[in-house]
Amino acid sequence: MQALSRLHRTPLYQQHFLHTVPTDEAVMELALALAGLAADWQEVPVGAVVVDRERRVIGMGVNHTLYAHDPTAHAEIMALRDACAFMGNYRLPGSQLFVSLEPCMMCMGAILHARVQRLVYAAKDPKTGVCHSVLTHEHYAELNHHTSIEGGLFHQHSAQLLQDFFRMRRRKK
Ligand SMILES: [Zn+2]
Repeated sequence: MQALSRLHRTPLYQQHFLHTVPTDEAVMELALALAGLAADWQEVPVGAVVVDRERRVIGMGVNHTLYAHDPTAHAEIMALRDACAFMGNYRLPGSQLFVSLEPCMMCMGAILHARVQRLVYAAKDPKTGVCHSVLTHEHYAELNHHTSIEGGLFHQHSAQLLQDFFRMRRRKK
């Protein structure tokens, strides 16, 4: 896939893939670095990382919707595709997904389908977030028997990246 291969060629990806990342903070820092990469590519800066039970990085993704002409190319979807391709499995039991922005409905659906064990996001998304913002995960508890959800880790850093990006984009218009 074109969008994934662009990410696969970056030093950021090559330096971190299959490396063990011991702390939540360090995984989220990687997700934020991926968000920064998306901003460099003029995409809304969102980055995501999937780690396995041993906390090895098995998938990374950046928001890629403009480049890929694809409304589904959100960071979480890209990271899940990457991890699933590596594992040779459409389910990722025992995995954890870290993302710099609260997931939307589409991504949350994919996270549940993939049986991700734990989701950690940074900034809230008041417009499309379905963990605690527009919807709360308690609202679809019957759909979710697999994924625990936590928000807020490094939320200020992520929100700043997004604010800077949109400010710069407005200035260019
Ligand atoms: Zn999404």
